[in-house]
Amino acid sequence: MADKLNPFAIAQRQLDEAAKVLKLDPGTHELLRWPMREFHVRFPVRMDDGTVKVFEGFRVQYNNARGPTKGGIRFHPEETFDTVRALAAWMTWKTAVMDLPLGGGKGGVVCNPKEMSEGELERLSRGYIRALAHYIGPDIDVPAPDVYTNPQIMAWMMDEYEKIVGRSAPGVITGKPLPLGGSAGRGDATARGGVYVVREAAKVLGIELKGATCAIQGYGNAGRFAHKLATEILGMKVVAVSDSKGGIYKAEGLPFDEVVKFKRENGTVVGFPGAEEITNAELLELDVMVLFPAALENQITEGNADRIKAKIVAELANGPTTPEADVILHERGVYVIPDFLCNAGGVTVSYFEQVQNAYNFYWSEEEVHKLLDRKMTAAFHAVHEAAQKYKVHNRLGAYVVAVSRVVEAMRLRGWV
Ligand code: GLU
Repeated sequence: MADKLNPFAIAQRQLDEAAKVLKLDPGTHELLRWPMREFHVRFPVRMDDGTVKVFEGFRVQYNNARGPTKGGIRFHPEETFDTVRALAAWMTWKTAVMDLPLGGGKGGVVCNPKEMSEGELERLSRGYIRALAHYIGPDIDVPAPDVYTNPQIMAWMMDEYEKIVGRSAPGVITGKPLPLGGSAGRGDATARGGVYVVREAAKVLGIELKGATCAIQGYGNAGRFAHKLATEILGMKVVAVSDSKGGIYKAEGLPFDEVVKFKRENGTVVGFPGAEEITNAELLELDVMVLFPAALENQITEGNADRIKAKIVAELANGPTTPEADVILHERGVYVIPDFLCNAGGVTVSYFEQVQNAYNFYWSEEEVHKLLDRKMTAAFHAVHEAAQKYKVHNRLGAYVVAVSRVVEAMRLRGWV
């Protein structure tokens, strides 16, 4: 079982399926199955009590055939090298499916940010960058936020990098605060992109979203903004949300502003007045039009896939559905918008951020929204058409589009 849920083993199995459809030659397939470069670092951090603690970190630069590697940094107590490898592979497919001139990478530090002071987090963030400064850069590998990292952490990391290289280099990292070269529209970009592709999916399926229900698992950056934007842009009724402590349900719909305020004050959505308490597992099985898994990996498995009632599963999290569950959902007619398409709004606006940093000229929020919509809509239809053409489920359709683009770049470079 353990290996079945190892995210990197899953990422490799997904690629293997795509390799079969595309009839990749063994050398090309093998090159795409593994990261091209990876770092395993240990670095000291001075804690508030005066002691020194040694932290373990990873950075995986999976494939750079299409451009500098790109992808977030996660701070998580259960981070593993294989999780980061899988996430770096998925970033490679994500930037390719969006047709961005970038490769894929990912980083992580084994730590529990919830138990650390702000000073400790700052020293940890700087320590991680010191360990990797010579191997990242605007033209090499460009980190960004991910699980439990945020714009403030990006600011410390950029500052540390600039001190080391001795010049301004805002393009080394994205997801920065606005005054330090962040992009308008980066904050809600992941959820916004997801909402745009749900809109497109509803069109091809002939579904009316206005007034329809949705449930959101996870209330971090992606889940929280999905609540706001599914309501504002799609006119949907969000009946359930959850976080790591549990979930809440209210048939009449949950008010965004009040839930966010409650979560800020209480650290969880659980206990929100007037709502029923439900578990994360129950939330996934609710009879809703759209389900947004926006938490962690391996949430929809062969154990619960036959009980998912949503018409559309819009994966804002990375890796929420296992390959076995993909087959079950597809057979049951559930329309899955796969992670590396659905949540690609974040990296797309990160790319816009890099472009603006290089220009040293900044766009309006409206401009960012318009360009993001155009990118998401084009990618959605490319994937939908590939899935129809090859008669495969949407994830495999997305792989076919992404992998062919990476292979084309590798061929043009003469690698394969
Ligand atoms: N961590 C986000 C992702 O998984 C964003 C990456 C980025 O902006 O580079 O797509």
